[in-house]
Amino acid sequence: MAKKSASFRFYAQLNDFLSSNKKQKEIKYAFWGTPSVKDAIESLGIPHSEVELILVNNEPVSFNCPIINGDMVGVFPVFRSFDTSGVGIDRGGSIKEFMFVIDANMGKLARLMRMAGFDSLYSSDFEDDQIVSIAQNERRIILTRDVNLLKRGAVIHGYFVRATDPWKQLSEVLLRFDLHHRVKAFKRCLPCNGVLELVDKDEVKDQILAQTARSYQQFFRCSSCGKVYWQGSHYERMNRLLRQLMEEDHRRRIPSRSPDNKLVKPEDHDLKDSINKPMKTPKVHQEH
Ligand SMILES: [Zn+2]
Repeated sequence: MAKKSASFRFYAQLNDFLSSNKKQKEIKYAFWGTPSVKDAIESLGIPHSEVELILVNNEPVSFNCPIINGDMVGVFPVFRSFDTSGVGIDRGGSIKEFMFVIDANMGKLARLMRMAGFDSLYSSDFEDDQIVSIAQNERRIILTRDVNLLKRGAVIHGYFVRATDPWKQLSEVLLRFDLHHRVKAFKRCLPCNGVLELVDKDEVKDQILAQTARSYQQFFRCSSCGKVYWQGSHYERMNRLLRQLMEEDHRRRIPSRSPDNKLVKPEDHDLKDSINKPMKTPKVHQEH
């Protein structure tokens, strides 16, 4: 039996996972038997959690679609402004709200996510198995820089964070999940992720300096660890940096006009063109 082959083309930021000689071009994938399209995509290096839409011979398919000799496969990333509703991958585990579990070596991102108000579990002791089971049981989104973690079969929602700088990582996550309008500072405890509650000054006066009590009127206490917060200079600084980041992200997202006068983001053109243009002559997808 001869080895079979299919052609793959990965779009936009999925190219981040490919070596430079494979980026932005058709890739030949040789195989035996009938692997699923998900297995093929992962063996080419792309974690399934990054994929939003797969077209086999121009037809949207699910992850378990078997690939056959001669298939033309287009693989698209999550692209917020590009509406794939109705044709995108059904992951089978919907997210009720945006809650995260963050990989063990990303403590600074965890603190920044909490600062921005997002429920983000983190421990420097987290093992990969633990992260995957927490994500599964609590319907949390995994944030990691470990591609292999995202390739695990039990992972439903996850994101490979490209940046290494924590503030850039925060910006990347907010953009990826379209979270800017959900940012709410002073909602969570930075070290423990507990929810902050407004408390009377009298209740916390033993835990703060007399000068702090004189200078500030509003105090918050973590419902988990009891740490007391007030909007002092540290808060002011963090809040200013957060506002700056939001403004910069907003500027980067200012829409421009496309030739047909529809509002689109500049980087949308490529993806829209490629999806409107058939990859090659369409072929009927059927078993031989
Ligand atoms: Zn706490």
